[in-house]
Amino acid sequence: MTATDVPPVPATATFESLDPRTGDVVGTHPVHDAVAVEAAVARAVGAAQWWDGLGHAERRRRLAAWRVALVHKTDDLVHVIAEETGKPLDDARLELVLAIDHLDWAAKHAEKVLGTRKVAPGLLMGNQAASLTYRPFGVIGVIGPWNYPVFTPMGSIAYALAAGNAVVLKPSELTPGVGVALADTFAEIVDGRPVLQVVTGFGETGAALCRAPGVGKIAFTGSTATGKRVMATCAETLTPVLVECGGKDPLIVDVDADLDAAADAAVWGGMSNAGQTCAGVERVYVLEAVAEEFTAKVVALARGLRAGTGGEYGPMTMPAQAEVVRRHVEDALARGGRAVVGGAESVQPPFVEPVVIVDVPEDSAAVTEETFGPLLVVNRVPDLDEAVRRANAGRYGLGASVFSRARGEEIAGRLRCGMVSVNGVISFAGIPGLPFGGVGDSGFGRIHGEDGLREFARPQAVARQRFRLPVPVTSFSRTSRTMKALLGVVRVRHGR
Ligand code: NDP
Repeated sequence: MTATDVPPVPATATFESLDPRTGDVVGTHPVHDAVAVEAAVARAVGAAQWWDGLGHAERRRRLAAWRVALVHKTDDLVHVIAEETGKPLDDARLELVLAIDHLDWAAKHAEKVLGTRKVAPGLLMGNQAASLTYRPFGVIGVIGPWNYPVFTPMGSIAYALAAGNAVVLKPSELTPGVGVALADTFAEIVDGRPVLQVVTGFGETGAALCRAPGVGKIAFTGSTATGKRVMATCAETLTPVLVECGGKDPLIVDVDADLDAAADAAVWGGMSNAGQTCAGVERVYVLEAVAEEFTAKVVALARGLRAGTGGEYGPMTMPAQAEVVRRHVEDALARGGRAVVGGAESVQPPFVEPVVIVDVPEDSAAVTEETFGPLLVVNRVPDLDEAVRRANAGRYGLGASVFSRARGEEIAGRLRCGMVSVNGVISFAGIPGLPFGGVGDSGFGRIHGEDGLREFARPQAVARQRFRLPVPVTSFSRTSRTMKALLGVVRVRHGR
């Protein structure tokens, strides 16, 4: 079979993807069952060997060609992203641009990060030449969410491919067309070989990918609840997992903060993409002394936003999410929170207008659970210690933002989370050299950066004996004199 004769993954049932703004059907996709998923993975195993065999330099060249193809096909991809998520075209463009930049970084840095390097053998093993190399897993199963259907899975796909793996992507059932369009652009640079394949369907398709023989690792991005299910499934076969889950990211506003910048960041971080951003701002802790002025600025900005086609942000991509937002708003208000922008009436599915609520009790759902909608909680705190305490109180720990002129990095160092933006918001996600990921219920493992490349490779250590020691210690021929001599060396080296 030649590379271009790869048969499509067989499937009988189909499902439709919809435009969440209108409910219009925008695509029909196969529901791939376990047999189809296993067939895709089996093909990927062969393709992975070919891709790995190309070596770093040739992969870098081909990934650069993919980057160029993505730039040229921006309009087509942006159209599919906007159609399936409902987000404004410029938001889709931003998502794609960031993904392209990450692809470029991963391709250019893979050899430096993963290539073979010498390691000092140490005094006791001075007769050895030690080296370390990073080998690909083979096939990586990538399970992605719908909120950033290109940027999020590309954080795994680009880095996994650069590390020499083949990838089987299972996009969210809400954004299958984006996954297919992405893989189509890649097919050209590998002459149609199944190095990046897409399987579509519902949760069962994702579960089948976790179980499929030949999958070396699963990179999952999605909710914490599904992440736990994915881990449980992967435990059956001891398949390693990378788990990128939700967040409840705080933004801290210090007394000396640039309040205009902080308010702009809070509103953009909380409302852009209709609040459907894993590392979006959901809670603000503002110091008492500047709370009134800051809140007034937030209110003015949020009141200027409009949800809807042609608005600053689009619909709730997943229809059920609107009810989660409504529940959080109602709960916050019932417990004494005060709405300063919008309220429960702002939830008009599929759209949700901006909601800002102040003085929300810390045990309400709007503070403890991921809302994933355009709801911003703004709570005043007496001092920084209290801001940090509350920021760290939740079960999530994905990202955070800090606005402070004098103490930004100091505060960042006290936060329990994977990433912090100082005087900015979500800035870390756009810097390809920085690892992205969380702690606690936000998951573990990292995409992006050097850690993100290593996430898709396993270290292999090699120790080559250069010459025999005159006094062997790892042999039955060793004598007690040999061990005495060794202990003498250790006393001199480590005993003082
Ligand atoms: P879900 O957890 O609902 O789904 C994520 C993916 O898992 C989907 O492709 C889904 O398929 C699939 N899936 C569902 N059930 C299973 C299963 N049993 N086994 C394997 N795969 C399964 O998340 P959403 O799509 O709703 O995404 C939103 C969530 O993602 C939010 O919590 C958000 O915070 C988080 N997120 C985290 C990011 C991070 O990097 N930390 C980045 C972006 C989002 P299907 O859709 O067909 O059900």
